[in-house]
Amino acid sequence: MKQCAIALGSNLGDSLQTLENALTSLHQIRGIKVLKTSSWYQTQPVGPPQPDYLNGCAILEVQQTPEELLSLLQEVELQFGRVRNEKWGARTLDLDIILYEDKILNTPSLTIPHPHFTQRAFVLVPLAEIAGDWIEPHSQQTIAHLVKNVDCSGVQINDKK
Ligand code: ATP
Ligand code: CA
Ligand code: CA
Repeated sequence: MKQCAIALGSNLGDSLQTLENALTSLHQIRGIKVLKTSSWYQTQPVGPPQPDYLNGCAILEVQQTPEELLSLLQEVELQFGRVRNEKWGARTLDLDIILYEDKILNTPSLTIPHPHFTQRAFVLVPLAEIAGDWIEPHSQQTIAHLVKNVDCSGVQINDKK
């Protein structure tokens, strides 16, 4: 079994419900266990004008390779009604692979660690909550350290239930 960290995001529809249901769906897939989940955070969007996001992270234990995991995550995105349109536009569900063990991978369809995550407070804040000690393989720095280098003012813990 391999450990990986994924990021979840949504800013269309009932985001809280979508994110919770997406975790349940992932846990039901053979070979995937959801080990830890972060709180949900309300975050200001990057890209075109659009509603605020709800974001979080989860640690998974998986039997799948990174490529197999990506295609399962994309199936779950579709299951929750994701439509691909504008780059970085609003979406019902976005699932990204952030880290996979200490692997570095660069293929046309998959980059691990996720290309922008060390600049993204909306990923680092939830990830630091559940995996502060995980070492990012390029920088060799922990998530707890990396989160200190970004502006976290647009990331607020979600109080809606
Ligand atoms: P960003 O990647 O900047 O967060 P996004 O999530 O909006 O943007 P998508 O449209 O969801 O981008 O995905 C575009 C492509 O990114 C996917 O088809 C996938 O092949 C590729 N991709 C590369 N690396 C990863 C990764 N680590 N996790 C998820 N998708 C990835
Ligand atoms: Ca994304
Ligand atoms: Ca994505």
